[in-house]
Amino acid sequence: MTTTPSNPQQLHDNFGRNIEYVRLSVTDRCDLRCQYCLPKGFKDFQEPSEWLSFDEIERIIQAFGELGTRRLRITGGEPLVRANLPELAGRLAALPGIEDLSLSTNATRLAKQAQALKDARISRINVSLDSLQTDRFKTLTGGKLSKVLDGLMAAKDAGFAPIKINMVVLKDTNEDEIEDMVKFCIEHDFTLRFIETMPMGTTGLDATNQYVDLQTVKAKLAEQFDLVPGVMPGGGPARYVQVAGTDLRIGFITPMSQHFCETCNRVRLSVDGTLYMCLGQDDSYPLREILRDGCSDDELKQHIIKAIQLKPERHEFTSNPGKIVRFMSHTGG
Ligand code: SAM
Repeated sequence: MTTTPSNPQQLHDNFGRNIEYVRLSVTDRCDLRCQYCLPKGFKDFQEPSEWLSFDEIERIIQAFGELGTRRLRITGGEPLVRANLPELAGRLAALPGIEDLSLSTNATRLAKQAQALKDARISRINVSLDSLQTDRFKTLTGGKLSKVLDGLMAAKDAGFAPIKINMVVLKDTNEDEIEDMVKFCIEHDFTLRFIETMPMGTTGLDATNQYVDLQTVKAKLAEQFDLVPGVMPGGGPARYVQVAGTDLRIGFITPMSQHFCETCNRVRLSVDGTLYMCLGQDDSYPLREILRDGCSDDELKQHIIKAIQLKPERHEFTSNPGKIVRFMSHTGG
């Protein structure tokens, strides 16, 4: 994408992990209300005055790039509700060191923006899709399935590849659609990833009761399909298999049944400039006021290095499920 600084510093935490991946939330707002993510009717979002501006975001990501960050994912909330996102993406793609710029979206607004995002040099797209049934999709998310499907097809037409579909598997809700989702992804040449639900905030859906252990999903799939070991590029924790005789790769993201904290390589920057060290812990570091108080680029980097030392060893979703009261959309999913 862009040149990598010749002698980049590296960010190491206190547990020997190299932190080279930032997930950037450009807004905590979302046009959907997925039952496990945000409560119905939720409106308690950050005010625009609290948002990092594009200039502020660029400065922070530049500092991360100089400190060895190679992967950047734009997320939210729903990133495509932030005005002029392709402009920001283009600016971030041009930063030295950022080699892999990707986007997570619910795709409701992707049809109109896919080409501009591709032109801005976003290389990979992940789309959340929990149901292929119009009525069920409406109940689960409050949104229109047809818009998401239009967005997905526009992303394909714009040349995004791979396109990864993320499906949160929920007991008695969409478990019965796993096979349909496999067929859908084979038909459209998408990569499929299943995700275990994590207890984050009180959303109206009981994450504990609707949790499905993906080991059981994998075992059932193995009865129906010939699964062989698979690999996919990306910086994340998914473990892949491939459906033999097809191009379909299926990833399993198992923060609950098989946590992957020992290889965690990421931090999350929220729209208000707070750096979160872990999705499942409260450790954080406020960068916005530091910027607005006029710090130099070197001082900013020193703050980031200090912040990384706060990264905890692991989440406590299983041992302390009530701990995290922030919603995923606030931290940046
Ligand atoms: N709006 C974008 C999207 O839909 O991909 C990005 C943000 S969304 C919060 C990122 C991902 O987090 C989605 O795939 C969503 O399904 C997932 N997510 C949200 N809350 C979750 C929870 N409690 N457990 C597991 N996954 C969750």
